[in-house]
Amino acid sequence: MGPPGAGKGTQAKAVAGHFEVPAISTGDIFRANVSGGTPLGVEAQKYMDRGEYVPDEITNNMVRGRIAEPDAEKGFLLDGYPRTLSQVTELDAMIDATGHRLDAVLVLTVDQEALLGRLLKRAETEGRADDTEDVIRRRLEVYTAETEPLIAVYAERGLVVSVDGMGEIDEVQQRIFDALDDIPQS
Ligand code: ADP
Repeated sequence: MGPPGAGKGTQAKAVAGHFEVPAISTGDIFRANVSGGTPLGVEAQKYMDRGEYVPDEITNNMVRGRIAEPDAEKGFLLDGYPRTLSQVTELDAMIDATGHRLDAVLVLTVDQEALLGRLLKRAETEGRADDTEDVIRRRLEVYTAETEPLIAVYAERGLVVSVDGMGEIDEVQQRIFDALDDIPQS
């Protein structure tokens, strides 16, 4: 978990590789559907372009289907999910059904001021439709209102591992590996 621009996507791929599990990124799956012009993509795009969350029901169904695939059987890393309280509840039910359990909730912390700069830079290099200044501001607001409170929910369960997300990509990656290597795996 972490705000837009925290580096979740970049670090998720590295961590998933390290633990040899798939990285399941809801943002990437939505974007692939938008590019492919699927019905899911057409629906999701309406929300993403405005910096709003895609409705829970759509997102939950997508994740439920994805974690049921064979490559997720031995475990998986979720990037960008859950982002709302309803998604937390749904995820609990989903993994109860699949027989998985949550080992850790990794939180990447970053300076607020650094975020806007990182996202505007990414807008130049990657050209993501939701990386314009107005939409970025909205995404940060939605994160603060809807997602940040979930950290406390998982902290109460003793699952939160907090890592400083400032600095070079490799440095952050090393901090994450060091923090996660102490966690017992299911
Ligand atoms: P970032 O975290 O950098 O904003 P993501 O690639 O994770 O980017 O997500 C991009 C967009 O995809 C979000 O702004 C939202 O519209 C949609 N999205 C991704 N994950 C979820 C989710 N769990 N629930 C609802 N919407 C989501």
